[in-house]
Amino acid sequence: MPDILKTDIQFLNGVGPKRAELLRKELQINYFEDLLYYFPYKYIDRTKFYTIREINSNLPYIQIKGRITGFKTAGHRRNKRLVAEFSDNTGIIELVWFRGVQWIKDSLKTGKEYVIFGKPTVFNNKINLIHPEVEDQEKLNSKINASLQSFYNTSEILKKSWLTSKAIQKLQNNLLQHVKDKIPETIPSYLLKELNLISLEEALLNIHFPQNPGILKKAEYRLKFEELFYIQINLLKQKKTRNKEFRGHVFSTVDDYFNTFYHKNLPFELTSAQKKVLKEIRKDTGSGKQMNRLLQGDVGSGKTLVALMSMLIGLDNGFQACMMAPTEILAKQHFQTLTKMLENMDIYVALLTGSTKQSERKTLFKDLKDGTLQILVGTHALIEETVKFHNLGIVVIDEQHRFGVAQRAKLWKKNKQPPHILVMTATPIPRTLAMTLYGDLDVSVIDELPPGRKPVITAHYYDSKRLRLFGFLRKQIKKGQQIYIVYPLITESEKMDYKDLEDGYESIVREFPPPEYAVSIVHGRMKSQEKDIAMKYFIKGQTHIMVATTVIEIGVDISNASVMVIESAERFGLSQLHQLRGRVGRGADQSYCILMSSVKLTHEARKRIEIMVRTNDGFEIAEVDLKLRGPGDLEGTQQSGIAFSLKIANLAKDGQILQYAREKAQEIINKDPELAKPHNSVLMKQLRKLRKENVDWSSIS
Ligand code: ADP
Ligand code: MG
Repeated sequence: MPDILKTDIQFLNGVGPKRAELLRKELQINYFEDLLYYFPYKYIDRTKFYTIREINSNLPYIQIKGRITGFKTAGHRRNKRLVAEFSDNTGIIELVWFRGVQWIKDSLKTGKEYVIFGKPTVFNNKINLIHPEVEDQEKLNSKINASLQSFYNTSEILKKSWLTSKAIQKLQNNLLQHVKDKIPETIPSYLLKELNLISLEEALLNIHFPQNPGILKKAEYRLKFEELFYIQINLLKQKKTRNKEFRGHVFSTVDDYFNTFYHKNLPFELTSAQKKVLKEIRKDTGSGKQMNRLLQGDVGSGKTLVALMSMLIGLDNGFQACMMAPTEILAKQHFQTLTKMLENMDIYVALLTGSTKQSERKTLFKDLKDGTLQILVGTHALIEETVKFHNLGIVVIDEQHRFGVAQRAKLWKKNKQPPHILVMTATPIPRTLAMTLYGDLDVSVIDELPPGRKPVITAHYYDSKRLRLFGFLRKQIKKGQQIYIVYPLITESEKMDYKDLEDGYESIVREFPPPEYAVSIVHGRMKSQEKDIAMKYFIKGQTHIMVATTVIEIGVDISNASVMVIESAERFGLSQLHQLRGRVGRGADQSYCILMSSVKLTHEARKRIEIMVRTNDGFEIAEVDLKLRGPGDLEGTQQSGIAFSLKIANLAKDGQILQYAREKAQEIINKDPELAKPHNSVLMKQLRKLRKENVDWSSIS
């Protein structure tokens, strides 16, 4: 049976080839189904009628019933307008049109009963309705009756072709009449009953034409639940399949490498959060299943150490390990950290990045292939075809929101038997988002900072207070502290940004002149060698101030740097601000983060700065970020596309529904992992359909 919902949109009554082309281009509506799932963004109550006497210009959209008693045209040229006098038993009001005058005059009749809908405004000292909607009372009666009127987003191009919100509503009406009783149910009946959900058809009907606010709520709930539920079913089923299909390497022992490191090299006590996470990893890797774990921990919580010790367990069992970082600077820093931590331990660690020389590569690849090279640290150069391991047992991916899902998958394919995977991120992800983006991963959290850290003090200065800032910086330098000054870099306006950076650098050098002060600069346009030199000076404490773009954003660990100045802070997103602040506060001294901004701030920018000043809690910041920006804009979600493709659920608001959907999905997958039981056949069918249609779903593996 052909699926009626897959009918080309051009065949819908009222569409045709031309409008179909527009709908396709502007709204990606190709089939009946796409239109059906093109939901309104708001509703306005159409049950209430006002009398003309009650109307004042403070009212929002209102609706009145009455008759046109006469027309006149008024004004000249650009002010030329059609005015209709409209009256009910209580008074007279003017309806005004500036466009389509002739057409409107021809289509409306005096004496006939109309329903008028619009926003009262004051024009020429009188209350009017300008460009109101006019509906024939008789025709209204023949429509699907709805008490709430739905409004649809359109575009300028669509409006030019009269595809207004109203027109889309009309198409929805035609479509719903046409497919009535032919919409296949997508949730098995036992679940509908158990969860007390309304049917798909009823939900779709009421999402477009709500009979009353109560049923609208039910329709929304049903559709949101379904959307989130299938994402979870998909993730959980994939996870099950993976566990079944892939045996993991068994790390059965903890031996010399780990123990020597723990007893001889570890310079401090592990935090209890680090211990807890290591136990979880140890359990996973020893179990015979393949580990897929997400490690969340705020900046400075000590994830690197957990990564290193996990890799040592791999080495103890005769495997190789690798660690991947998003930037060259960070990869280098990891390499140096590991090398230093593993001092005197006779472990072969190497670094591979885009700028590793051919000759070095050759030896490196040979050693990797024959297994003598034990730990390889690098950038995404690690996942190139040419990099072949002898027996890769565990992979650590640092700051994975910079690594696309596809890259994760590529790594996966490097071995017949996939390695254990530990994904680490300091970008705090709200729980709902984590559940959706990484719902196929197990999650560990380091929720504790190493002891002795003083919380960073954050302050907001307007640009006009720059002299005060400089005074403060001088004092800090006198105390022996180092300072970052970071400028935003946004690719679209790169030229301007570099100019900002260079001007900034020059003014800083003027304020902090040599020989008393040393200022260095690092940015993305410098050669890697120059960057290295500048970084080295700073790391060694030979420069006092580092002026930089966001290349230092992630991971670099310089404990003597205690002041982070962020220029044009209003141009950074919250998670970036939080990351940057995490660069300081690593040593024993009190650290500061100073947000510089102009006086003119948007409402959102002000909110971002306020929360930064108020709290250091990454998770709280992430929640606010989610609320301010909506999930589609968060880092990480763009790559996965999932949060973007949600049609009705909102990860910022529907956390509870998501939680419930996940629990239900888990229950079902536990009982019937293959979804093979007859009562679940609807689930399997719908899942197949979604997987076929949804590119993002299939790429998550
Ligand atoms: P992140 O989680 O941001 O990657 P790092 O792993 O870079 O954090 O650790 C930040 C700093 O804290 C490093 O200098 C590291 O040596 C130090 N550190 C890690 N664990 C501990 C601990 N248990 N006690 C004291 N310092 C620690
Ligand atoms: Mg780190």
